[in-house]
Amino acid sequence: MSKSAIFSLILVILFSFSCTKTGKNSASMAPSTSQAQKVVLVIHGGAGTIKKENMTDEREKAYRNKLSEALQAGYEILKNGGESCEAVIKTINVMEDSPLFNAGKGAVFTADEENELDASIMRGSDRNAGSVAGVRTIKNPIDAAFEVMENSVHVMLTGTGAEEFAEGQGMEIVDPDYFKTDWRLEQLRARKEYGTVGAVALDDNGNLCAGTSTGGMTNKKWGRVGDAPIIGAGTYCDNATAGISATGHGEFFIRSVSAYEVSALMKYKGYTVDEAATASIDQTADLGGTGGLIALDKDGNVSMPFSSAGMYRGYVTENGEIVVRIYKGE
Ligand code: ASP
Repeated sequence: MSKSAIFSLILVILFSFSCTKTGKNSASMAPSTSQAQKVVLVIHGGAGTIKKENMTDEREKAYRNKLSEALQAGYEILKNGGESCEAVIKTINVMEDSPLFNAGKGAVFTADEENELDASIMRGSDRNAGSVAGVRTIKNPIDAAFEVMENSVHVMLTGTGAEEFAEGQGMEIVDPDYFKTDWRLEQLRARKEYGTVGAVALDDNGNLCAGTSTGGMTNKKWGRVGDAPIIGAGTYCDNATAGISATGHGEFFIRSVSAYEVSALMKYKGYTVDEAATASIDQTADLGGTGGLIALDKDGNVSMPFSSAGMYRGYVTENGEIVVRIYKGE
């Protein structure tokens, strides 16, 4: 065999090895992102059947602007030496307060035409975590999740008990009607879209924090709880590996413990954050669950894989460069 034939053979073997290692679905054939600089904050605003042909220019612009605004809000905190969890909360607040996303105002409706919200947060330095599920009156559920982490001996509070706790912690309480929007009511039973929001931040001290906030799945009933408030499924964070926040069909993300899977693959198999994130999304997709996740490691490497048509997503680098993406292949 000639030298060039041997060389080509080696290239083919190396290429197929890298494809096997990183999985076979979703965005796995190419790194889900490549950034030149250290990323300090990454966000998602939900995944699903998000296609350019279904989007008006105006609506696309509104999403891109709001994602940029959220990144800017978190970046300001990090730039001024703030903690990663503070950045995660302020970033998610921008999206919770916007009717564009399925979190806070604009949350999807349950089968009873109510809004029931879930949120969680986890800090990478001590792996402390907090979450709330099925709450109906807390304006910003991510703040309540943080209070559970900081000011209770518990990790997860649900329903009216969680609301009582949040009120006692001075959280803003609103009438359940606050969350209702006409377009989400029309959307009830209409489209398969996951509009959960999430953020992962890395602060000056090298500490990671991850958070997720959602209205859950449209038309849910029987007190259904998704992956977003479940530590390990929708959110996970460990300074030794990465911070992760997921969005998608929650039942499958719970069954594949998607967020923890990213951390475990990095910890026990030595995967990079992108290999681990992609493999996790592929495994969830193999079970039948579409969606995506964002992951940021302790060195500022980011990954944003998804198995759906699109995912609202973006990141900001340490120099303040903001990148926002919506569709596949962007
Ligand atoms: N993962 C969320 C849930 O299943 C839905 C979403 O991502 O929008 O509750």
